[in-house]
Amino acid sequence: MLTSVPVGTNSLKNYEDIVDEEIIEKIRRLGGEMKGLRVLNLSSTAFGGGVAELLYTLVPLMRDVGLIADWQIIRGSEDFFTVTKLFHNALQGMELIATPEMIDTYLTNNRNNADMFSGEYDIVMVHDPQPAAILSFLEDKGKKTGKWIWRCHIDLTAARPGVWEFLRPYIERYDAAVFTMPQYVKEDLGVGKISIVAPTIDPLSPKNIPIEYDTILNVLNRYNIDIKRPIITQVSRFDPWKDPLGVIDAYRIAKEEVPGTQLLMVASMATDDPEGFHYYEKTSRYANGDPDIHLLSNLEGVGNLEVNAFQRASNVVIQKSLREGFGLVVSEALWKERPVIGGDVGGIPLQVINGKTGFLVSDTEQCGKKAALLLKNPEMAREMGIYGKEHVRKNFLSPRQLADYMQLFIDLYQT
Ligand code: UDP
Repeated sequence: MLTSVPVGTNSLKNYEDIVDEEIIEKIRRLGGEMKGLRVLNLSSTAFGGGVAELLYTLVPLMRDVGLIADWQIIRGSEDFFTVTKLFHNALQGMELIATPEMIDTYLTNNRNNADMFSGEYDIVMVHDPQPAAILSFLEDKGKKTGKWIWRCHIDLTAARPGVWEFLRPYIERYDAAVFTMPQYVKEDLGVGKISIVAPTIDPLSPKNIPIEYDTILNVLNRYNIDIKRPIITQVSRFDPWKDPLGVIDAYRIAKEEVPGTQLLMVASMATDDPEGFHYYEKTSRYANGDPDIHLLSNLEGVGNLEVNAFQRASNVVIQKSLREGFGLVVSEALWKERPVIGGDVGGIPLQVINGKTGFLVSDTEQCGKKAALLLKNPEMAREMGIYGKEHVRKNFLSPRQLADYMQLFIDLYQT
């Protein structure tokens, strides 16, 4: 058996005062039509990164509206996760020659997970490439039940042909594929149905819920951060695509204009991301002992509450990604009325409206200059924050995504 992730409970009612009424009504209507539908989510980790974040909210909400929803995670050897991280990087454009050993590791682990797969479902949603080949093994044994959806959270626009060509036949076994943006859909992908669904954040999760000023202060004190001096923050896994070294350069540029500025780099070390530890050390060396650069992670006890406090305490939030599927952290910061300076890539421009909810930047120099501009103009920062929160409320809160998924489930189920 694969491992089920315990997710707690939640109720759609709690969102009635936050999101627009039409969304709640749509979910209730679809829930009525789909009562008892068995839905399984399959992913590679229950901890760290955006996918886990989303499922902790969506699975309890699916249950609340009448679906029989579950979330299971696959098992994999350490070299499996190393290989899938390399595949992930290659799908985002990094050079990779996939060796026969890598392919073998990927397929063997997928086959083992297919052997552990049990239960019958009406809908199975498989997240990202790690578990993508499980379906083919089940199908070949005549064990596929229900409709299968591949949910791709990655920006595939610059995917290396080698890895994509390897994965494509496995994806083409699916009944549907879901992407964050239309540009991510590969032209040569032959799948029955394609949907575009942007991710969302949960306004009621411990990471996003309003917290008292005193709580924020306590958290900052605990990590020796000075609330009286300007704070720039990036919350991201340590990963080359999140450009941690570029963030440090941008902070150094901003600090020339606004002395006393502090930089918080907050990272969670995901269990499916061995590369993270390597990049943490690299970033730490680059910080070169600067006492105003705080590199913090779950290893120092940074959890959801702390991330919430850091984002709220920031004068400016940066997401200097070089490639980004969506970037939940951008919506998280905007929801807290923080202006965001984001790399002009992937899903970030959906959230950062240049000049309105923050700034889109293409290089480190621009990023540093815009950070200084916002630090020197708190009124501009405040206005962008207010606009940003409304933009997120309308477009990027969990009930909207739940409605989109339920619509897809019912469309598939009825065909
Ligand atoms: N996150 C966290 N602690 C950290 C770093 C990240 O809780 O130290 C969370 C972050 O708040 C966000 C998710 O992990 O909810 C990252 O999602 P995103 O889409 O930004 O990036 P991904 O890691 O999926 O590439």
